[in-house]
Amino acid sequence: MTDTPLIERLRGFTTTIFSEMSQLATKHGAINLGQGFPDAPGPREVLDEAVRAIRAGANQYPPGHGIPEMRRAVADHQHRFYGIELDPLSQVMISAGATEAMSAAILALCEFGDEVIALEPSYDCYAGAVAMAGGVFRQVRLHEPAYTLDLVELEAAVTPRTRIIIVNSPHNPTGHVLTPEELQGIADVAIRHDLIVLTDEVYEHMVFDDHRHIPIATLPGMFERTVTISSAGKTFSVTGWKIGWLTGPARFIDAIHTTKQNMTYANGTPFQHGVAVGLALPDERFGAIGAGYQALRDVLAEGLVAAGFDVHPVGGTFFMMADISPLGFPGDGYEFCRQLPERAGVAAIPAQVFYGEPQSAENLIRFCFGKRPEVLAEAAARLARMSMP
Ligand code: PMP
Ligand code: GLN
Repeated sequence: MTDTPLIERLRGFTTTIFSEMSQLATKHGAINLGQGFPDAPGPREVLDEAVRAIRAGANQYPPGHGIPEMRRAVADHQHRFYGIELDPLSQVMISAGATEAMSAAILALCEFGDEVIALEPSYDCYAGAVAMAGGVFRQVRLHEPAYTLDLVELEAAVTPRTRIIIVNSPHNPTGHVLTPEELQGIADVAIRHDLIVLTDEVYEHMVFDDHRHIPIATLPGMFERTVTISSAGKTFSVTGWKIGWLTGPARFIDAIHTTKQNMTYANGTPFQHGVAVGLALPDERFGAIGAGYQALRDVLAEGLVAAGFDVHPVGGTFFMMADISPLGFPGDGYEFCRQLPERAGVAAIPAQVFYGEPQSAENLIRFCFGKRPEVLAEAAARLARMSMP
């Protein structure tokens, strides 16, 4: 008998790496490039609207699916950027961040014993949500350094019990933006095997160079089998607000409403007012988000290379994978990241935690570059000065 009352299938999910590394960063006063959150304030209009809404008394429960203004703003955003037509009443639901959206979707759609495929590495909440649902989590590897998806490997991972493929592009933690060919390949597999696709697009406006964000729901035959998830946290630099949304066919939104209403019922009335204003900002404001992060990416990449890391290419998000092998550290990425706040005054995340086969990524760590350029430059300078044990 172990002494935890926690059910067995959740015992591998007790503390997230993000809290662990953020605590170490605080303890040692380190620059926190671990947990992904921006240090820029959100757009003034968005912040002002939330304050206005609070003062105007928008402080009680919103409708379970979200306030009408917010659902309309999500539908308009999907139409403006991707040409997706949505009925705000039946095809949009607001959630407590993308995390709740993903958990509610998986709990609603994954039967006990069903298999769920995700890209490896994958953002940690997917495996946790599948475990809560009693499903079986499988991963298909993105191959570094460009993190390409092998479509033959994807198809080989499908079994008669497979029910869901989780797509995430731009991808956390690698920064890979799935190519049109990769997206079409995933769509082909989903259609061939009659699978549901849950697509996590929280970094949709953080895309660089020639990369383009293509929602998989826009590919032929995909809307009817896809639930698209996004969130305000990254786009508007308001990760603490926890406002996310799901869009897709009404039958999916109805099903997921059943789990959402038993988790939070509804959330964040004044913040929904703020985010609705954000989603309606002009195109150039969205364009500036990508351009801003692209410049920060370049600052961090240059600094990490100067400090001796090998860095992998980043097409989107605010994450960068770095290989510690050239540094000659006598340990894996986990040990490296545990020591980093004290040794260098910087925090990062060991990429192993995102892999089902952690031993295959012992040399990889993830940095977040969503910080002011001077903060990134200072972090890089500290890393360059670090001595190895
Ligand atoms: N999906 C991905 C890929 C993420 O990186 C994150 C963290 N920002 C989330 C979902 C969670 O988003 P939220 O904070 O809106 O729950
Ligand atoms: N999404 C953020 C990241 O990948 C962390 C969110 C969290 O702390 N759960 O760093």
